[in-house]
Amino acid sequence: MESKMRAVVVARYGGRLEVMERPVPRPGAGEVLIRVRASGLCSTDLHLLSGRMNLGDLPRILGHESAGDIAELGEGVTAWKIGDRVAVAVDVVCGACRHCLTGQTQRCRSLQRIGFERDGGHAEYVAVPAANVVGLPDALTYAAAAILPDAVACMYHSLIGQGRVGLGQKVLILGVGGLGIHGVQIARLAGAEVIATSRRPDRLRIAERYGAISLNPATEPLEDRLREWTQGEGVDVVVDNIGTRASVREGLNLLRPGGKLLAVAYLDDTFEVPSLLLFRMEQEIIGCRGSTRQDLVEVVRLAGSGRITPVIGACYPLERVEDAVERLESGDLVGRIVLTREG
Ligand SMILES: [Zn+2]
Ligand SMILES: [Zn+2]
Repeated sequence: MESKMRAVVVARYGGRLEVMERPVPRPGAGEVLIRVRASGLCSTDLHLLSGRMNLGDLPRILGHESAGDIAELGEGVTAWKIGDRVAVAVDVVCGACRHCLTGQTQRCRSLQRIGFERDGGHAEYVAVPAANVVGLPDALTYAAAAILPDAVACMYHSLIGQGRVGLGQKVLILGVGGLGIHGVQIARLAGAEVIATSRRPDRLRIAERYGAISLNPATEPLEDRLREWTQGEGVDVVVDNIGTRASVREGLNLLRPGGKLLAVAYLDDTFEVPSLLLFRMEQEIIGCRGSTRQDLVEVVRLAGSGRITPVIGACYPLERVEDAVERLESGDLVGRIVLTREG
């Protein structure tokens, strides 16, 4: 095996994402080496560049959602064989704390994340704990599988795990980006009716294609339409994929008494909540962080059987990450950007 590989790194905070030559990682005991075939580019990758989160020693290889083949087994790994097709879960967890033991691995107190505190999948190879990989059905392409661990599993965790969305509910999804478009599909699959909002007609069209009622708040008053849709009651669940003071205020305003606001995004540092309203309405604001290991297993199953369609906006070769970033920043696409590998 080659000793060097190409990888997308943060070399310094506030710089650009760069393609650099890095050593091919070695799998430690209990780890597997993955030959990465595709990795999803997330807007969080751009936040990480800013230095808002400490990534440890730089350069750090980014990429928290990826898929590929197992290329090498570390000591003691018996559950996998070379060539197995897999997706990689983001969180590296201890397996022993109360959160891990109750299946809430995303809350592990010793959490490390692939593509954050550990080197990630925007590379030709990545070494990860064997416990982090989930086998892929043949029906799933690498590009489709690559976006399951974050863009899809995160929405699944939010709506199903945290929001308990189910039959007959009415769900409002604020924002139809890489996450929201999968949120629409998952909420529909769970038996809910969905209104999805965006200011972009192309995003609204695709939300409709996946079964949402679409609404452009720039041209139509959101509140009037929502009141009408829920006979004045307010929606059961709001998914806030925007994460600003304004979106939280708006979300709470559109919720029914006892409804749930799922806080998926966190653009503004703080949100304001009218305390009397919270008291009177008994609404819940629920943080939604990533996904559990089991969530990833389930979304792989759902995507493998065609019940969820991973929505890919564009594919770029790893080397063209700068073009991919430009495209991501332009907002000029629907669905996730995937970085692909040669061969
Ligand atoms: Zn992400
Ligand atoms: Zn733990």
